[in-house]
Amino acid sequence: MQDIINRLSRIVGHTNCLSGDDLREKYDHDITGSYKGRSLAVVRPASTEDVSKILALAFETSTAVVPLGGNTGLAGGGFAGADGDKIILSLERMNKITSINRQSRLARVEAGVVLANLHAAAEAVDLVFPLVFGARGSCMIGGNLSTNAGGSNVVRYGNTRALCLGLEVVLADGEIVNLMSELHKDNTGYDLKDLFIGAEGTLGVITGAVLKLFDKPKAYATAMVAVADIASALEVLHRLQAVSGGAVEAFEYMPRNYFRHLQMVDASAPMPFDKLADTAVLVEIATTNAQHATAGPDGKVPLVALLENTLVALLESGQVLDATIAQSESQRTEMWRQREMAFEVATHLGVSLTTDVSVPLDKVDAFLNEMTARIGSVAPKAEVVVISHLGDGNLHYSLWVDPENPGQVDEAQKTAIYNLVEDVVEKLSGSFSAEHGIGLAKIGSMARRKDKAALAVMRRIKRALDPKNIMNPGKMLP
Ligand SMILES: Cc1cc2nc3c(=O)[nH]c(=O)nc-3n(C[C@H](O)[C@H](O)[C@H](O)COP(=O)(O)OP(=O)(O)OC[C@H]3O[C@@H](n4cnc5c(N)ncnc54)[C@H](O)[C@@H]3O)c2cc1C
Repeated sequence: MQDIINRLSRIVGHTNCLSGDDLREKYDHDITGSYKGRSLAVVRPASTEDVSKILALAFETSTAVVPLGGNTGLAGGGFAGADGDKIILSLERMNKITSINRQSRLARVEAGVVLANLHAAAEAVDLVFPLVFGARGSCMIGGNLSTNAGGSNVVRYGNTRALCLGLEVVLADGEIVNLMSELHKDNTGYDLKDLFIGAEGTLGVITGAVLKLFDKPKAYATAMVAVADIASALEVLHRLQAVSGGAVEAFEYMPRNYFRHLQMVDASAPMPFDKLADTAVLVEIATTNAQHATAGPDGKVPLVALLENTLVALLESGQVLDATIAQSESQRTEMWRQREMAFEVATHLGVSLTTDVSVPLDKVDAFLNEMTARIGSVAPKAEVVVISHLGDGNLHYSLWVDPENPGQVDEAQKTAIYNLVEDVVEKLSGSFSAEHGIGLAKIGSMARRKDKAALAVMRRIKRALDPKNIMNPGKMLP
């Protein structure tokens, strides 16, 4: 083992091969606190060539490699186990934005670029990279691609896969595959890029990407909307899509008790309505059209007026109960801050169980109703809080098993709860993993619920690309 560490040090330099306990510590545990282990060493390459040499060495010595980005993943995919036999390959030094091309609306980046840094670089030239979620200050493009991350803007721009035109990948034996296409149309054989996106580091290491950029909206109109029920919420979504020409950027669901817990975490958080409704959504529409973004003689910005008029019409028909429209950028920021505190809200009472499932839009109501009817059978004292990217049918159904007595949850009860959620999801033709991936956390569900033929194909692909099973072994594929 010491020989491998010495050889890694020769590739990346002594200071970038971390083998002491104190140096590895922050890489050896995940953000949720569920996984804490011990790697052999953390190696921090500076270039694709370094990555290639590291993987060639790992291949030769049959040493397992766990690629790591910002370590914000919620499924344990970046966990190196406790045996001290795996190398963590951190992409953090490969953090260059190589180019931003306004004409082609593309960015070329290394895999270790922090998402928020790409946001800032794009905005500096009046463009946006529209992948947005709470962990953006730490997560990295390679991790976003490897988990095919979703977030709040999927309803308009799709998930990370839809935002990527090209990739550079290093295979398990160190071979570099150049798929850095800038083309919107490129039908030259199998789409290998899509194979590595969402592979959670099990097929190779993503080292670079070509990503799509979009015009920066000139105005946003943002509101917290209290609605009668989920059917009404979806009516708000569809009506807004229709009147705005598909300009809904985000449509996020939060129930009444979310705000109650939010106030426990942050007592100063202003509540959006005098009287909280059972169902509230944070909705945002945007325009890149200067005319729609500029206040008219009445002082109203047309985009904001469009949102307001649509909500008023829905208020009159009873589907909307109340609404607060952001009147300034600071009010908009506060609405988003409240939504993005979901992680703190879900974890503030100690142990909570969180899920990441998706169902077709017309089945969201059925999912929530059936869970309400059945959750008592496996968790009689539970308090449920559902936070959802409702615009794309992705629900984080979370619960405190016993809010009066937070603490360790019995493993058998945990399993029963997850099984119930996944049974209901399966019945409604949904997915047990919407945006966080499989990692270690859902490996059992993958074995039980994924189509058997699809699993067999995945295993054949894995064997072909990683014959020694050194790429993030034990993750994703049961
Ligand atoms: C507060 C908070 C909010 C979040 N909100 C969302 C959300 O709304 N939507 C969402 O989708 N996710 C969300 N997440 C989850 C997480 O941020 C995303 O999954 C993110 O894309 C992970 O990026 P990362 O760089 O941290 O990856 P890591 O955690 O470092 O790694 C994740 C997986 O990708 C692999 N990997 C990392 N880099 C590479 C690479 N270069 N090549 C090959 N494999 C690699 C790892 O081995 C691991 O399996 C949230 C997390 C937090 C903490």
